[in-house]
Formats: sequence, C-alpha cells, structure tokens
Amino acid sequence: MSDFVERPYRMLIGGQLVPGSSGATIESVNPSSGQVVATFPDGDESDVELAVKSATDAFDAWSALAPLERAATLNLAANQLVDAGPEFAHLDTIDNGSPIREMRKDVGIAAAQLRYFAGLVLQLRGQSIPTHPGAVDYTLVQPYGVVGRIVAFNHPLLFAASRIAAPLAAGNCVVLKPSELTSLTTLRLGELWQDTFPPGVLNFVSGTGAKVGVPLVAHPAVPRIGFTGSKKTGQSIQLHAAQAGVKYVSLELGGKNPILVFPDADLEAAAEGIVRGMNFTWQGQSCGSTSRLLVHESVMSDLLKSIAARMQALRVGDPLDEETEVGAIASPTLYTKIMSYVDMGRQDSGTELITGGEHDDPHLRSQTYIRPTLFVTENVRSSLWTDEIFGPVLVAKSFTEVSEAIDLANETEYGLTASVWTRDLGIAHTAAERIQAGYVWINASSAHIPGAPFGGFKASGIDREEDLSELYSYSQVKNVYVKYSS
Ligand code: NAD
Repeated sequence: MSDFVERPYRMLIGGQLVPGSSGATIESVNPSSGQVVATFPDGDESDVELAVKSATDAFDAWSALAPLERAATLNLAANQLVDAGPEFAHLDTIDNGSPIREMRKDVGIAAAQLRYFAGLVLQLRGQSIPTHPGAVDYTLVQPYGVVGRIVAFNHPLLFAASRIAAPLAAGNCVVLKPSELTSLTTLRLGELWQDTFPPGVLNFVSGTGAKVGVPLVAHPAVPRIGFTGSKKTGQSIQLHAAQAGVKYVSLELGGKNPILVFPDADLEAAAEGIVRGMNFTWQGQSCGSTSRLLVHESVMSDLLKSIAARMQALRVGDPLDEETEVGAIASPTLYTKIMSYVDMGRQDSGTELITGGEHDDPHLRSQTYIRPTLFVTENVRSSLWTDEIFGPVLVAKSFTEVSEAIDLANETEYGLTASVWTRDLGIAHTAAERIQAGYVWINASSAHIPGAPFGGFKASGIDREEDLSELYSYSQVKNVYVKYSS
C-alpha cells in the first residue's frame, strides 16, 4: 500500500491529473496516529473555473451517447473500483480513521450504486399525454448540463464514487468536491478513472468549502447542485445558489434521529438494534445514526444494562486491525467537539453517564478515540439531547405513553431517520405514519435498503437519493406538442 502514502495527490480536471492553479496543498493526517499520510491540492476558484469549463465542453458528446453506452462506462468504473477495492479500503481507513472492515464494505456499496444507476438508464422515460386527433403530446427527459456535487467526510470513497452515478447516468457532467478532511480516495479515483470517462465528463476538485465549494455553487454554468453535509452548510449553499441564479439544490443533511422501544418489543433484538443503529462502527459519524433513545419506563433499566454491556464489548482501536470494531474520530477538531458534549453531559444534573467517554488506554487517549458512550437524561432542553453530535454518543430518555414517545421523537428540527421496536402492529404503523422522518425502520435499524429512497424531512434535507427519483432529479422535463394534421 506504500504506493498511496507520503506522496502528492492531484485533481482530475478535463481528463488531466493536475496540482491546482496555485500549487498550494493541504496535508492529510491519519487521525488514528496523528501522522501525515499525503498532501493534496488546496484548490480555488481558478480550478473550479477550469473544471466547469471542461465539464461544459464535454456535455454535448456525453449527453448525446445512447443511455446504454453511458451505462457501460459506469459499469466499467464499478468493475475497476472493485478490482482496486483493497487499496481504497486501506486509503480510506488511514485518511478517516474508520475500521478497515467497514471501509471494505463501502467499496462494495459504491460499486453497487454505480451498477444500480447504470441499470436504470432505460427507466428514465418521458410520457405520452392523450390529446386530440391530429396531434401528439409527449415529454422529453433531459439532463441539466453541469452538476456540482459536494460531499461530507464520513464515507469518503462511498460518497465520491456513488454520488456521481445518478447525474452521469442521466447524461450530465459532474464536478465533485470531497471534504478537505478526507480527500484521498476521491483523488485516487481520479487516477483510476482518468481514462474511463471521456475528458471533462467527471472532474474532482479538492479544497475547502470557502475556496472550492462556494465558487462551485455560485458558478453561473452550474444549474444543479447536489449536497451531502451539515444543515449549516446546506443553508449556506441555498443562500449562495439563490444569490447566483435560479438553481435546483438538493440537500442530504444531518439528523438527531429517534429510536423508540415499546414494552412489548423483543428486547434482545432491540438492544442489538440500538447499538447497530448508532453506527459505532463509523464512530457514530453517520447522518442516519439513531442517537436519541426513547424507552418505555417499564423496560428502561434492563435495556440500559443490556445496551451498555454490548457497547463495552465493542473493540475500540487501530482501524487497520482486522478485529477493530470502532476506530478513531476523523480529526482532532471533531474529537474536541464531541468531547465537549460528553463533558456537558457529565456536568448536567439531569443527566447521568452510564458508560463511555475518553479512552482509558493512554495511547488511544492521546489520539482521537472515544469509547461508545451512553447517557440517560430527563433534560430534553440540553444540547446533548437536541444537537446532532455526530459521534459515538447515545442519549436515552424514558416515556410512559405511546403518544408521548411519538411527540418526543418529533421534538427536533431534524427528520432524517427513525427506528421503532414493537410487536404491536397498531403501534408500529401509527409510529411510522406520525413520526416526521424520511426513513423509518420497524424492528430494524441502520440498514439502507437498495433502491429505497433515502432523505430527510424538515431540516434534514430536500429530495431523495439511492432510488429512481434520484435519477429523475438530475433531469428536467420538456413537453412537446406536435400538431400534424388539422
Ligand atoms: P460539512 O457541512 O461541514 O461539509 C460538507 C462539505 O461541504 C465539505 O466538502 C465541505 O468542504 C463543504 N463546504 C463547507 N462549507 C461550504 C460552503 N459554504 N459552501 C459549499 N461547500 C461547503 O459536513 P461534514 O462535517 O463534512 O459532514 C457531517 C455532516 O454531514 C453531518 O451533519 C451529517 O449528518 C451530514 N451527512 C448527511 C448525510 C445524508 O445523506 N443525509 C450523509 C453524510 C453526512
């Protein structure tokens, strides 16, 4: 794997691997060791300009290809990714701190998404609208042109490889910006796919949100933006997009997702589902993590013991170790932010720490490792209960009535996911109907079902992804009326 470390990475712009206009670089630091892994370009507005121009120039030819030809390119890209899978898993692990066995799964999911959208190209269809004799009315479904894609740090390869699939399948060209925290696998994809896509069809521009993200969003030749990240950045993107023009912005944002356990639930399965739902295997750094636990008071005490035991059994440590289940937080800044919530919980008189916090091993403690952490609280006003912590911190609260549980579940600005544990069909369906979230699991958690729409209500976002609607969202509809006889 030495080929991928301690070397400069470059961006993919117009089919060329380039260092960036200014030559400035950012260091990628392995959060589990604190060591510099590699450097990559600190791009800026000039690089965005070049990438958008390349994408614009490539658009006519790419969009004119038969859909199955575009699909063949996406399938080839998926095959190349799978062949190079071990390198990508390794690179993601040393760049973002998540366990290698999880990053390996991301390679498979990314390839599956590329193949899924490749398989859907012939489903992107217009309609024939009945009209009077001597005329036909139909719709054409056409791409936007250049799509700007900006993604978050927590699944670097998965987001870079999969979030380009729908826009490219629909005939758009793409300029994607990875997170400046975890850019290496995206730039490595640029190397892998340099000759896979025609020059300019796919561009990767690295750098910060201010220097690359903002100009990309504001660029007049980018009418469609797809964003994955925090609510705060999503709002900034809406603002910059609106100031620059009339643009279609889709947003996949954060969550403070509820998980409800009713007294009739299979409590063993629920305990397992609660731990799985926290995505501790990515250190809880997941938008969909069910981090607000609502438990019926009659089963609270037993359930907390069972969850705490499972959390304590998770192996925290070197993410490259095959046995590791919980790795390191992606950066010292994020570590400090998460630990500030843990400290807040410790100091709050209405809140009790059940397990977790900083690591007791001095070596792990010196890096960004946090043990899976469980609080129980009665303080629904504390930011521990209301804020998206985006770390391995689960907060539990008891309830007595079904309606109280559902109201508490909805008392959040977010609405991404929710999980409900019960054997009662009535409670299950009532909760599914009334909880304000875009993705609800009943007696399950965490899993993304292939082809099912993923996205949020309220401040968790706009639009859905991972399904047919995502493909349509990268297309615009044109109505054509033809009068051929009077
Ligand atoms: P973030 O919002 O800080 O950054 C996301 C991306 O936006 C990065 O590439 C960043 O450089 C860029 N950016 C920052 N400021 C920008 C600006 N003003 N204009 C344009 N781009 C800008 O998010 P993060 O810390 O990388 O990721 C964590 C957040 O993402 C959490 O809130 C999490 O819930 C959310 N997330 C959501 C989903 C989902 O599918 N709903 C998936 C993963 C992560």
